[in-house]
Amino acid sequence: MKVLVTGGAGYIGSVATERLISNGYEVVVLDSFYMGHREAVHPQAAFVEADLSDKAAVDAAFREHRPEAVMHFASHTLVGESMQHPFLYLGDNVRNALNLLEVMVEHGVGKIILSSTANLFEKPESMPIGPDERVIPGSPYGESKAIIERFLHWLQVTKGLRYACLRYFNAAGATAERGEDHTPETHLIPLVLQVALGQRDAIKIFGGDYPTPDGTCVRDYIHIADLADAHILSLQALETRPVLTYNLGNGNGFSVKEVVDTARRITGHAIPVEIVDRRPGDPAVLVADATKIKAELGWAPQFPDLQSIIQSAWNWHNGHPRGYAG
Ligand code: UDP
Repeated sequence: MKVLVTGGAGYIGSVATERLISNGYEVVVLDSFYMGHREAVHPQAAFVEADLSDKAAVDAAFREHRPEAVMHFASHTLVGESMQHPFLYLGDNVRNALNLLEVMVEHGVGKIILSSTANLFEKPESMPIGPDERVIPGSPYGESKAIIERFLHWLQVTKGLRYACLRYFNAAGATAERGEDHTPETHLIPLVLQVALGQRDAIKIFGGDYPTPDGTCVRDYIHIADLADAHILSLQALETRPVLTYNLGNGNGFSVKEVVDTARRITGHAIPVEIVDRRPGDPAVLVADATKIKAELGWAPQFPDLQSIIQSAWNWHNGHPRGYAG
């Protein structure tokens, strides 16, 4: 089967491409390099340099490559940025997804896996967050994904589109060849490892007064290879089921301080910290209940513990101290 991967030069999309290819799929990567890296594109993937805002270019890519399914990663993805620049999210994210969906329908491509987010759950009634939690987006970013999820629902009803919404918690870690390299970097684990590499003096911890055991935010970190495998299982399951919705995490919460302590043990570096103000939009605790995808699709994470996730990231950052630039 041939799969078109939008954002296949980015952090999660490039690893999904890697896993698709190692599982025997043909892949067409479509990426604008807005955030992604040429070096992250798998050498066996066909490549189209295009932005999803350019519908004619997307149409041409479908005409040339004739994909049978789509994995849609290309997106603005930062909660904080979305609070400052809502139109990047309510505008670009939504318009670009609409372009993609229109082209899919026009070409009769009937399956899509959407990268969605835990930011759909601003006020969870239970923790860990289960499959039936009510969607209340926490930011324009979360709202953009909620809107796209609704588009998918209506395209299922009207056009028979089959879809999976995969709501990621905190994607982290690396494979041997692909890791996390954002400019600017805002994510905790790569920033902590930059301190260990001597590229930063200290890590700023955003808030030490949350209602958590050590006062710092608790998150559910999930390895990107496990995330990628959930996409492939979902794609296979769409053969028999039209709609899939899953929360993806390991079901274990780790505080910011626990992340730093684990990184200290792995890297042997003291990793100084400084507690600063809370970051707007950060909930105290976000942990996934992923039992549904385990039960329904047999998803079995290979990196269920924080130690192995951070170790994999450290291996990659050590080999790529300047990210994909070297
Ligand atoms: N965080 C932090 N310092 C940083 C970056 C992140 O304390 O320099 C915290 C952040 O407040 C959150 C957790 O680390 O509680 C994970 O943040 P990240 O940005 O990696 O992912 P997010 O939870 O926003 O998806």
